Amino acid sequence: MSTLETRYHAVLQSIQQTAQQAKRNPDDITLVAVTKTWPVETILEAYAAGMRHFGENRAEELEEKRPLVEAELGADSGIVWHFIGTLQSRKTSLVADFADTFHALDRLKIANRLSKRLEENGRRLPTFLEINVSGEISKSGVNATDWENSATQRQEIRTFGETVARLPGLSLQGVMTMAPWEAEPDFIRTVFKRTRRLAEWLQEEMGLERPLALSMGMTNDYQLAIAEGATHVRIGRAIFGERQTH
Ligand SMILES: *Cc1c(COP(=O)(O)O)cnc(C)c1O
Repeated sequence: MSTLETRYHAVLQSIQQTAQQAKRNPDDITLVAVTKTWPVETILEAYAAGMRHFGENRAEELEEKRPLVEAELGADSGIVWHFIGTLQSRKTSLVADFADTFHALDRLKIANRLSKRLEENGRRLPTFLEINVSGEISKSGVNATDWENSATQRQEIRTFGETVARLPGLSLQGVMTMAPWEAEPDFIRTVFKRTRRLAEWLQEEMGLERPLALSMGMTNDYQLAIAEGATHVRIGRAIFGERQTH
């Protein structure tokens, strides 16, 4: 087996084990292989190893790579392209045109622009709201640092969720979060737990029939995220190794 295959199988095995320890069904967890900075050849190799969900965090990179991969594998390869990065408003059309799922919606302005373009394209984009419960990693994400106590924050999150659910080009799939880079496991786990509770609360508030999905967990913390209910883990380095810089 190649290094990539060996690493991929190790990640799959770890997801399975962690899910079982948490009394969860491993099939409820989608592994999004984060291929940002890696060339198309790496994606093709990953596809051959069995991966079907790919994550990119720069709109231009998605725009460039998807057609090249489709030229090799066809448009019906079964690949699902996840856009996981923060989106700037002038790049919404790229994501509307090239992504199958969007993980990091954090502003209504972006939501409106995306939806308009998607409507023109006759598509609906499954979308996660990015929320920021730790306040530490960056400014991205809807402020939810004190959502349990702050009626103002809860109101904002609810309005955001309801607005997104009503937009014709988007379909609200879940909630996404990023844990702080360097923190103790207990702290990271609390971030994931608070995010899961927020998703449960939002489902209830909005009267949604199905639970909201939870996109959380990366190379350093995906086991903690799975223990707290992650349905989508976004993993790059554990599969592909350290990234080359642009
Ligand atoms: C890069 C990235 C990941 C993957 O990070 P790794 O540490 O390589 O697993 C996950 N989510 C987002 C939003 C990213 O930008």
